[in-house]
Amino acid sequence: MRLRLDNKHTKIVATIGPASRHPETLRAMIRGGMNVARINFSHGDHRAHGETIDNIRRLAAEEGAVVAILCDIQGPKIRIGDLQQDPMVLGIGDNITLTLDDVIGGNGIVSLPHPEFLRDIEAGTILLLDDGNLQFNVREADGRNLLCDVLVGGPLKSRKGVSAPNARLTLSAITDKDREDIRFALAKDCDYMAMSFVRSAADIRELKGLMKQLGQHAAVIAKIEMGEALDNIEEIIAVCDGIMVARGDLGIETPAEEVPFHQKRIIKLCNLAAKPVITATQMLESMTENPRPTRAEASDVYNAILDGTDAIMLSAESASGSYPVRAVEVMSEIASIAEQNLGYQRATSHDERAVGEAGEDISDAICRTTTEISQAIKPRAIVTTSMSGYTTRRVAKERPNTPILCMTPNATTQRRMALVWGVTSLQVQEFTTIDEMISLIVRTAHEKRLVERGDRLVIIAGVPFGIDGQTNLVKIHTVGEEGEI
Ligand code: PEP
Repeated sequence: MRLRLDNKHTKIVATIGPASRHPETLRAMIRGGMNVARINFSHGDHRAHGETIDNIRRLAAEEGAVVAILCDIQGPKIRIGDLQQDPMVLGIGDNITLTLDDVIGGNGIVSLPHPEFLRDIEAGTILLLDDGNLQFNVREADGRNLLCDVLVGGPLKSRKGVSAPNARLTLSAITDKDREDIRFALAKDCDYMAMSFVRSAADIRELKGLMKQLGQHAAVIAKIEMGEALDNIEEIIAVCDGIMVARGDLGIETPAEEVPFHQKRIIKLCNLAAKPVITATQMLESMTENPRPTRAEASDVYNAILDGTDAIMLSAESASGSYPVRAVEVMSEIASIAEQNLGYQRATSHDERAVGEAGEDISDAICRTTTEISQAIKPRAIVTTSMSGYTTRRVAKERPNTPILCMTPNATTQRRMALVWGVTSLQVQEFTTIDEMISLIVRTAHEKRLVERGDRLVIIAGVPFGIDGQTNLVKIHTVGEEGEI
C-alpha cells in the first residue's frame, strides 16, 4: 500500500470537543483526513485537553499519520455574567445596565466583569451581544456602569459574548487565563498557538516574547476577527507563522456581507508571503445536526480551496456535533474534487513579486521553476529538505499539483508541515553530503512505500545544509538509479 501522497492537498483542521475526544472517534477522524487537531481553550479544562493531546499523538503514531496540535487561546473575549432567569427576554426600548458589580443578572441589571472594557466604552457606542443577535445603544457610561437602551431585543442567555465593533479598545491581548493556558499548551509541546482578537503585529510580538520568557516556542497563528486587524493585515502576516480567517467573530466585528471579500484578500496575501492560511467557521455548519452538507456549504468549502486556502476548519461540526467523522470525510471529498478541477493554477503570479535589478532571489526562482519542471516531467514528488520548513512553504506557495515531500531532521518541522498545502512530511536523520542526502531520501521514502523503483523525484536543497533561505540545488533523480534500494 502506498502512503497518502496523492490523496488531497488541502489540509483539514478539526476542533476536538466532547463529540470527538473518544480515541476511536479520533482514530476515524485521522483516517478520514484530519491533519491538525484544534484544542479550543474557550471550553474545557486542562485535564481533558491534556488527555486529548496525548491520545492524538499516540493514535497518529499508530496510524502512521502526522497530526499537528493547534492550541487556540481564548484571548480577551468579553462576556456577561450569569442570569437569574435564563434566558432573560429583552424587548426594544427596554433599559438595561451592564455593571462591574458582581451580581446575578435580573431586574434590568447584568454583570459585565471586564474593567478594561468598561473603561473604554463611551456614550453612543453600539454593543452587539450573542453574535450580534441583540443590539444595545450605550446612553450613559461612567467607567463602571453602562446604561443601555435595547435596539434589537430577544432572549439573552448567561455568559453570552459582547462586542463593540466601532470602539477603540485598549484591552491586553493576553489575559491571566491565557497565560495559564499558554504555559500548559507549551508544556504539552503544542505545534501551533492560535491567538484570538489580534489587532496588530505588536500583539503577536507580545505572545512571542512571553513564550521566549517561558523558554519554549510554538508557531503562532493570528486569528483575524477584528476590523483593526484588517487594517494591519500586512504587518500581522509578516510577523506571524500563519493566519486563521476567523469568520465567526469577523462577521460580527465587520458586516457579514463583507466577510467573503476579506477572506479572499487575506488568503491572497498569505499565499504571496508563503504563510499557511486556515479558512474557519460555519464551513459545514448544518452537519452539526445532519449527515449531509447543504449545497451552499459544499460550495463554500470548494470556493475557499479555489481562493487558495491551505486549510479548511471544522468547529462545532466536529467538537459538539452529531457527525464529527462524517464532517471530516465530507471535507476530504470536497477537497479532492476541487483539487482535481483546480489544475495547475499558480496562486502567486511572477509579476506580483518584487524583482529588483539584481534579478529574482535565487531560492524564489528555484522554488518557482521547480513547479514548472514538475509540470513538464510529472515526477512522483517534489522533495524538499528543510530544517525550519521555510523552503517547503515557498514551494507550496506555487501550488504545484505534484505532491511535495518534506524531508526534515526536525520533528517539530515535520508536525508543523501538517498545516501546509500539499505537503507530506517525513523525519530523516541529519546528513552532511549531497550523496548521503539523496540516498537517505530515497531509502526513507521507499521504506514508507511512498516511492517505487523508476519513480522520478525533483529534489531541491540548500548547500551547505542547515541554512534557511539558501535553496541552490535541483536534482532530478530516478529512484534506484544509484543502486540505493
Ligand atoms: C471565529 O470566530 O471564527 C473563531 C474561529 O474563533 P472562536 O471559535 O474562538 O470564536
